[in-house]
Amino acid sequence: SLKVLEQFKNPELCKKLLDCLNKEIEKEIRFMEVCGTHTVAIFRSGLHSVLPEKVIHLSGPGCPVCVTHESEVNAFLDLAGKDGVIIATFGDLIKVPGKKGHCLKNAQADGARVEIIYSPFDALEIARKNPNDTVVFLGVGFETTAPAIAATVMMAKEQKLDNFKVLSFHKLVPPALDVLISDPETMIDGFLLPGHVSTVIGIHPYDFIGAKYGTPAVVTGFEPVDILQALLQMVRSMKEEHPKVINQYQRGVSEYGNPKAVEVMYQVFKSSDALWRGIGLIPNSGLEFSDEYESFDAKKVFDLKIGECPSLPGCKCGDVLKGKMTPEKCPLFGKACTPASPVGPCMVSTEGSCAAYFKYKVD
Ligand code: SF4
Repeated sequence: SLKVLEQFKNPELCKKLLDCLNKEIEKEIRFMEVCGTHTVAIFRSGLHSVLPEKVIHLSGPGCPVCVTHESEVNAFLDLAGKDGVIIATFGDLIKVPGKKGHCLKNAQADGARVEIIYSPFDALEIARKNPNDTVVFLGVGFETTAPAIAATVMMAKEQKLDNFKVLSFHKLVPPALDVLISDPETMIDGFLLPGHVSTVIGIHPYDFIGAKYGTPAVVTGFEPVDILQALLQMVRSMKEEHPKVINQYQRGVSEYGNPKAVEVMYQVFKSSDALWRGIGLIPNSGLEFSDEYESFDAKKVFDLKIGECPSLPGCKCGDVLKGKMTPEKCPLFGKACTPASPVGPCMVSTEGSCAAYFKYKVD
């Protein structure tokens, strides 16, 4: 299969696809690559410098760390200071700044117990070893990660690990796209849809993009050929009144995704309204605990309040995530804000647009 993958990097094929794109594009198109991994792929492969001028790419809200709301960040920072609490988290959240620029890494230096883990199951092990403490796993991620977190919660229940809790700040991608596309300021002509999320949910949750708004949407992979082919398919389907979702990434995504994973996710969680950084409250775009599993809900156990709160001073992450601004237009970009000293989450996460622009454009 390595050989198959090689074809997706093939420069000659890329050139042919680029020629077709150049020929077929009539007017300027603004497409959003929803997922941070696509943003990185577009830069790393150098595609951004060879795409036709009429093709404008906007980064979207597809970096889970970046869309985690300010008040959610503050909530886990508050929790990190509590006696008897051990925070278990993936490493990408550790440097995300909250109020006063404070982050988990500072909290750790001040004595908070913060453990970086690589799999949610590791958090269960920490809970087992520390029976007198409460282990709170920070559940940040999209449909891609939520099923594994749900499976971990089920396992905790089975093993009666009552001192394991999850702070569920999971987000669901399709409802956010619905909000972005209906925002007149954003002006999106087409979407490149995230390959990884679609592996779980399949292609149909995006049907509304074409049906309701007449906008093309293509689920695509991460190699240059994938992206170019998807753009060509997007341009071609612009001529249709109600284009159907196209699955360019058939080697990774099946039409109905992974129903088993979705089932596990909805056993433990149910959809709920959620706050997104820069976007605000989006109905049914988050996951909260179902009644059966609510004893694992850190939000309830610690009575955490999530609500509107001031955004980080000077940081334009909100506009970047909505595709209204490219990162280098932010006055702090590359000056006060760099990956070594990030002001906002879009510069922290490796999937963040600001970090990608910094690494591939400025360096
Ligand atoms: Fe925020 Fe920094 Fe990006 Fe500006 S460059 S939007 S301050 S993360």
